[in-house]
Amino acid sequence: MKKILVLHTGGTISMQADEQGQVTSSQKNPMTLVSNPLESIQVTSLDIYNIPSPHVTFSHMLGLYQTIRENAQSYDGFVITHGTDTLEETAYFLDTLDIPKKPIVLTGAMRSSNELGSDGVYNYLSALRVAADEKAADKGVLLVMNDEIHAAKFVTKTHTTNLSTFQTPTHGPLGLVTKRNILFFNQTEKRTRFHLDRIEGTVPIIKAYADMESILLDSLSTDQISGLVIEALGAGNLPPTILPSLRRLTKEIPVVLVSRCFNGIAEPVYAYQGGGVQLEKEGVLFVKELNSQKARIKLLIALNASLSGQDLADYIQG
Ligand code: ASP
Repeated sequence: MKKILVLHTGGTISMQADEQGQVTSSQKNPMTLVSNPLESIQVTSLDIYNIPSPHVTFSHMLGLYQTIRENAQSYDGFVITHGTDTLEETAYFLDTLDIPKKPIVLTGAMRSSNELGSDGVYNYLSALRVAADEKAADKGVLLVMNDEIHAAKFVTKTHTTNLSTFQTPTHGPLGLVTKRNILFFNQTEKRTRFHLDRIEGTVPIIKAYADMESILLDSLSTDQISGLVIEALGAGNLPPTILPSLRRLTKEIPVVLVSRCFNGIAEPVYAYQGGGVQLEKEGVLFVKELNSQKARIKLLIALNASLSGQDLADYIQG
């Protein structure tokens, strides 16, 4: 018998639609009413939070991390139900901390519990099956929805409403949940993990676009921010108009670059004004395969782990 601890945090999976179709939190989490048809799994549930995921903060994420660590010896695996809007951020956050080598699976739903075609119970039971499978251990944090298993590092929400919203661009999913099996056909990457009990600092995200003005960058004071993430163009290029403002920032804080393309890898390729080669020379750090919301978390965790100078650059670019 596998013992799984389920941590419910809220989100659509625990919500209900009213007669007008408006979706709101319900007092009693519908997932706690789901009877477990999986005889080989013993489920213990905790309603750790009941919030929509746009309300999730680092304090909530740290609460999940601490709860998992405190219960690591008592359970064989963990399931976290979560709103889908920021699910990838909580998943990546946990995946970058010093989590136990047991299955840790996040799931959610795109349709609330009483909507036609609701996917909550199905995803929940799939997540339980993966969390109870030994093959899911030591793979870092996983996301299970719509019959697919994704790595926290690469998965992202790609659609506002579609049930197959979670995708892993470039790499594809790690595995599948079939009627009878849990199948893994991709490896997870080795990860550097940190133990932290607080996250401090501010790292905003700025997106680049054609004919970009420097007004936003100019308004940033390095007294108020600890770092910056820029969603650059293509392989990692920026309009030359913002270079003077960027130079002011790179002298004082780490500036991390990702691509605004949702697929592919950012790296310094172009040597023109504002091209990636020049940006790299000026100290901009390229994160190869993360989106901006995860690059922000990576930088914040690195700064809170007191990485600086070359160590910070190696970690961010590694
Ligand atoms: N807005 C919801 C949330 O993230 C969406 C969802 O759960 O699917 O809480």
